[in-house]
Amino acid sequence: MSTSSSVSSPQQVESRACKCRLIVKYITTMTRENDGRRFFKCCLPGSLSCGYWDWIDSKLPSHVSLMIHNQTIELD
Ligand SMILES: [Zn+2]
Repeated sequence: MSTSSSVSSPQQVESRACKCRLIVKYITTMTRENDGRRFFKCCLPGSLSCGYWDWIDSKLPSHVSLMIHNQTIELD
């Protein structure tokens, strides 16, 4: 009998490459809908971009993102 415990690794931002084979940058959203939520995005601008993007964080509950949003405003 083997005791194999599956340890889920902590969420971390790893390096990823998009279709351009470039390391994607990650961005933190500052919109009211998705405040503080991070996503990967192709580092090339506009029409040069391959259009790659992907969420890092799962969607926050609306009250949490609203809380972050309010804190951001207070700091300003
Ligand atoms: Zn790209």
